[in-house]
Amino acid sequence: MGKRALINIDYTYDFVAEDGKLTCGTPGQVLEDYIVSLTEEFIEAGDFVALAIDAHEEGDTLHPESKQFPPHNIIGTSGRELYGKLADVYEKHQDNKNVYYYDKTRFSAFAGTDLELKLRERGIQELHLVGVCTDICILHTAVDAYNKGFDIIVHKGGVASFNQTGHEWALGHFENTMGAKVV
Ligand code: ZN
Repeated sequence: MGKRALINIDYTYDFVAEDGKLTCGTPGQVLEDYIVSLTEEFIEAGDFVALAIDAHEEGDTLHPESKQFPPHNIIGTSGRELYGKLADVYEKHQDNKNVYYYDKTRFSAFAGTDLELKLRERGIQELHLVGVCTDICILHTAVDAYNKGFDIIVHKGGVASFNQTGHEWALGHFENTMGAKVV
C-alpha cells in the first residue's frame, strides 16, 4: 500500500448543500456516503489523502472565476466547510501524516499547490478522484494529472455536477480520451 492517493475535491457546503452558493444540489448530496467511506478506506490503508478545497477572497474581481460564477467558497465563511460527515472524518484524522488539506485557488488541485511534489516524494502513481464538479474541478485536475503522467481513476459514485450534460460528457472524456478508469 501507500502507492495510491485519493484526491477529494471541493466537497463543501457551497458546492453541495441545498442553499450553497454554487450547489450541485441532490446529485452532490447523494455522494456523501460514498465519499466518506472511500476516504476512510484510504486513511485506514495508510494511503495518501488530499483534500483540495477552493479558497476565494471576498470581492476578488481579478480572479478569472469572478466573471463566470457567483462568489463561492469565500475564505472565512461556512460555505467553505466540508459537507456533511466528510467534515467529521477530516476533523478526526487531520493530524494523520498522510492526510493533507490544500487550499486551491483554481479549478485544478495541482494549480498553485505542492500536491505534485507530495505525490512524487511518495512514489505515488495512481490517483483516485472524487468530489465536484465532474466537468470543472475534477476535469481540470484530471487533465493536469494526465499531462503529468499519473494513472487516473474517477469514481462514478463519488462525482457530480450542477450540469448533468457536462457530467456525462466528462465521464466519457475521462475514459475515451484520457484513458482513465471510471469505476
Ligand atoms: Zn472556485
